[in-house]
Amino acid sequence: MDKQLPRKLAAILYADVSGYSRLTGQDEDQTHQQLSEGLNTLTSMISTHGGIKVHEAGDAILAEFSSVTAAVDAAIESQKSMALWPSEVAGDERVRFRIGVHLGEVIQDRGDIYGDGVNIAARIQEIASPGSLCVSSAVFDQLAAGGNYNFDDLGYRDFKNIEKPVHVYHLRSSELLGTQVTDVVKARVEHQPLFDDAVENMIVATGRCVCGSVGYEINQESLGSGFCHCRICQRSTGAPVTAWTAFPADSIKFTGDKPKYFRISLIADRGLCIKCGTPLVWRSLKPEPANYIIVFTTTLDNPKDYAPTWHGGVESQMPWLDIRDDLPRTRCEESPSLRKSWGSVGAANPDNWVELGYEQIVSLDGDPNLDPAED
Ligand SMILES: [Zn+2]
Ligand SMILES: [Zn+2]
Repeated sequence: MDKQLPRKLAAILYADVSGYSRLTGQDEDQTHQQLSEGLNTLTSMISTHGGIKVHEAGDAILAEFSSVTAAVDAAIESQKSMALWPSEVAGDERVRFRIGVHLGEVIQDRGDIYGDGVNIAARIQEIASPGSLCVSSAVFDQLAAGGNYNFDDLGYRDFKNIEKPVHVYHLRSSELLGTQVTDVVKARVEHQPLFDDAVENMIVATGRCVCGSVGYEINQESLGSGFCHCRICQRSTGAPVTAWTAFPADSIKFTGDKPKYFRISLIADRGLCIKCGTPLVWRSLKPEPANYIIVFTTTLDNPKDYAPTWHGGVESQMPWLDIRDDLPRTRCEESPSLRKSWGSVGAANPDNWVELGYEQIVSLDGDPNLDPAED
C-alpha cells in the first residue's frame, strides 16, 4: 500500500537533546529555557540554509533539505552557535543537541515525512557526541567533492529497527573547538547502546593519580591528543614534553578526592592530587572557561590508546630531545585559540610571546595564584 505514497530523495536532519530527562529532573525551568533557545537556533539555521522544518516533538526537531551541503552547514552552524552560549550554566546542566544527517528516500504525507531515511537520521544522531553531529556515508560521499569539514570514520553500525548496518562518520571535533587539534575520534565501543541514558553512562576511559586518591571516569570520546613542548607545560610538570588528550568538559567525573586547581598562568589552571602532586588535568579559562578539559594522557589507565597526532609549542622544544616522527609541528603563536586566550588577558601582540618569554607573559598582570577558578 505504501508503494502508492509519494516518495522523494531528501537530506534529512534530526536533532535531539542529549540526556533530556536527566536535565529536566535537575532543573526544569533552566532546562526548558535552554531547550527553547536551542530549538530557536536550530529553526533559524535550518531556514537560513534553505531547509524546511518538518516538525518539532518535545526536545527533537526534524528538517529536510534539498542539498546535503546545506543540511550539514545548518547542523554545524547551529552547534557552533550553541557552543558559544554563555557558560554560567554548569557543564552537566547544559542542554546539548546531538544531530544526525542522512540522505535517503522519504515518504511525504500529511505535512510530515516518514520512512527508513528519517529513522536512520534519528539513529545516527544517537551516537554523536553531545554538541556535535554524525552523518551517514550517503551524506559523506556527496560532501566529499566540495566538503569544507573533516569527519572521522566510525565504521558500520547496527541500529535498532534498521535492516542493514549504516556506515557512519562523526564530525571531527576540532571543527567545533576552533583549535588546531587534529583529533581522531576512534570507535572504541563496538556495540553502541541505543538509548541516551545508556550512552550518558558509558565509560570510555578511566585514570588516576599515582597514589590513587584522585581517580576519574570519562563518558565521551576524546576530542584529540597531542604533545605540548611549551615552556609553561615544561615548568609546571617538570617534564620536557607533555602528552595530552582533550575531552568534552562535562564528560569527566572525579572519583575519590577531587583534584585541587592551581592557576599556572593568566589563561589556565591545572588540577592535581594534593596528596601525591600528580598533575591530572588542565583547563583553559580565558576568555571564558573552555568547553573541553585536557587530561595528561599518561594518567589514563589506557594511555596507549591515545596516540598524540601533533606537536604543539615546538618553539620551546628541548634541543636534546630527538623525536623523529612525521607529525605536524606548530608554534604556540600559530594557534588561533591560544592567540584568543592570550589576547584576552592583554598580550596585545601575540607574535612577541616567544621574544617576551613565557615568564613575562605569565606575570603580565597581578598574581595568577590569587584568582583560582571555581572547582
Ligand atoms: Zn595522588
Ligand atoms: Zn603547554
